[in-house]
Amino acid sequence: MKKRRIFTLLLISVLVLSIFMVGCGNGDNGDNGDNGDNGEVENGGESPDRVAIATGGTTGVYYPLGGAFANIVNDYVDGVTANAESTGASVENANLLNDGDVDFAMIQNDISYFAFEGIEMFDTPMDNLRGLATLYPETIQIVADAGAGIESIEDLAGKRVAVGAPGSGTEANARQILEVHGITYDDFTPDYLSFAEAADNLRDGNVDAAFVTAGTPTAAITDLSTQHSVVLISISQDMIDEIVSEYPYYTQVEIPGGTYRNQDDAVDAVAVMAMIAVRAELSEDFVYEITAALFENLSDLESAHARGGDVSLEGAQDGMSLELHPGAQRYFDEAQ
Ligand code: GLU
Repeated sequence: MKKRRIFTLLLISVLVLSIFMVGCGNGDNGDNGDNGDNGEVENGGESPDRVAIATGGTTGVYYPLGGAFANIVNDYVDGVTANAESTGASVENANLLNDGDVDFAMIQNDISYFAFEGIEMFDTPMDNLRGLATLYPETIQIVADAGAGIESIEDLAGKRVAVGAPGSGTEANARQILEVHGITYDDFTPDYLSFAEAADNLRDGNVDAAFVTAGTPTAAITDLSTQHSVVLISISQDMIDEIVSEYPYYTQVEIPGGTYRNQDDAVDAVAVMAMIAVRAELSEDFVYEITAALFENLSDLESAHARGGDVSLEGAQDGMSLELHPGAQRYFDEAQ
């Protein structure tokens, strides 16, 4: 009798255990499949065979460089297909990445910091964001209609200003820089426009000025300056000092004379860093392989845009505002 009871108990335990194991096998592997991934879980992370890269508007720099990154993955990483998507840029990209709708994202380092901490424009910390590498400086460029009488940021009060696409890092920069100058959105008419829309509206006289946070030269401004007479507005040294001390991710830069048509003099400005961020859920081996492919084919980035030439192994952690993904960390530890 006793033996039989022990046997029955054993049988039940085996059954319960096997049901539990089947349950695990069918369980969610963390890949919510929104981007069509066919993810495999290994080393505690996913190794999808399709990846999506969030970039920005088509006349910015994220778009061509994100496209070049996708091509590198397609050409040099076996069994992985990458696709670069046009988006509203940094803030939208942080949301897309954190939600697992994309696997990699181009983001400004100030915005990824706010996202990770859940501050400024983000309500909750975004735990799914990890750093792969910082890339190149993105300059906050303030371009104005040459006939609108705008010579300083203070002159933007009362004007119609394109402040960046909804969900862009540009918009956050416009807000912060204006605020340091004592100007709020109540003091002028803000228009939430992509770089291409801002350029068209400036040319057609519907807006007086536009903020553009992007690597230089930015195609939207290059094209505009060949069709319309525009000027770039300098930020005064006092205000640059204040911006940098209030928001530590800004650095002081100069837009060299001759960057755009009819712009002979250098312009004083501030910049943030562009970075590639990656989903924390991707496996270490997978991200290692992607990082290696990127850094072993940097000339492909340079051919896509001049700022691609700024990307280097030595500079890949300058201004990094996120914890590095362990796959990227392993690559840099080995390569440096
Ligand atoms: N940094 C810009 C933003 O997040 C986008 C720059 C680009 O598209 O090159 O608003």
